[in-house]
Amino acid sequence: MELIGLDARRPARVRPLRHLADLDAAGRRAAVAELGEPGYRADQLSRHYFGRLTDSPDDMTDLPAGVRGKLVDALLPGLLTVTRELTCDVGMTRKTLWRAPDGAYVESVLMRYPARVTICVSSQAGCGMACPFCATGQAGLTRNLSTGEIITQIWKGAQALATGRMADLGGGLRLSNVVFMGMGEPLANYAAVVNAVRRISDPVPGGFGISQRAVTVSTVGLVPAMRKLAAEGLTARLAVSLHAPDDDLRDELVPVNRRWKVAEVLDAAWDYAEATGRRVSIEYAMIRDVNDQAWRADALASLLAGRLAHVNLIPLNPTPGSRWTASDPAVADEFESRLARSGIPVTVRDTRGREIDAACGQLAASATK
Ligand code: SAH
Repeated sequence: MELIGLDARRPARVRPLRHLADLDAAGRRAAVAELGEPGYRADQLSRHYFGRLTDSPDDMTDLPAGVRGKLVDALLPGLLTVTRELTCDVGMTRKTLWRAPDGAYVESVLMRYPARVTICVSSQAGCGMACPFCATGQAGLTRNLSTGEIITQIWKGAQALATGRMADLGGGLRLSNVVFMGMGEPLANYAAVVNAVRRISDPVPGGFGISQRAVTVSTVGLVPAMRKLAAEGLTARLAVSLHAPDDDLRDELVPVNRRWKVAEVLDAAWDYAEATGRRVSIEYAMIRDVNDQAWRADALASLLAGRLAHVNLIPLNPTPGSRWTASDPAVADEFESRLARSGIPVTVRDTRGREIDAACGQLAASATK
């Protein structure tokens, strides 16, 4: 018999510390009570964290000086440390590389647009889905992130905006959108991600109070988890990374397709659309001579006809060493017009952050290389 936990070749599995953001209202009150403090201190602490975006005891003047440090130490541990920040697009795009105490790296990207600010967050360190065109997929899975680690990425982003550290625009900016399109497969870390969606959308002091309609969860198509998500009573948008209308090609581009086929994935997507009333976003990376043929545009159009769907075409960002490259612009235009002519809503995604390796699929924690 093997001795559990005594395998010296493996690094110890360190669980991220408990964080306020992991807990719902009742859990926070219980945690505060454990520290010998009245339950309402949980709300006070939460207002500082989610509302005023501070974790500094000095700012918490409505709390007795003697308890501030105790609450902060117990419930607001610094889970992730910034190791690098890179800016491009005249300061409108900013990538942050984070390191957890166990050495796991993750990345998040803030993108400012004229009418909104979006943060793209990671749900796992690495990813186990092995999509061959994605940099994170090449690296494999390190571990799931906790809700606190997901929320920390958002919290720091919101703080940077509020204090004007984004493009020197004077501060006072609010985060409007959150997309789970960074590293990892959100639905493979289901509980932590759903919990994070609630923290993002619950009004202060429960969370940030960002509309759930402005949150997008992107998946390779883990059908049972998609079905479970549809039953959560959320109104977040679902994005499905389809990339091919046919199983032959999708088996190769998104290997989990060998388990759940295109038809099953789309069925689950339409059920999600029906349950939530939200249009599903169909993500399609345009890969030259691989998935960009006119017949595939037509096949995609017939799969989506009459459905609550919107297609997002993403020019492929070639990852280092990849044999694939982005579609020829004329071919991509033709693909887009064929969808549009069939009445399918379609847009071409702008690819922010290319020169800082922050564009779609490039988040690969370059620090580890
Ligand atoms: N695992 C989830 C979310 C992370 S990836 C998912 O797959 O949906 C976010 C999006 O970026 C996905 O649609 C993914 O397929 C796409 N993507 C990954 N690598 C890419 C690349 N090199 N070029 C363009 N898009 C890419």
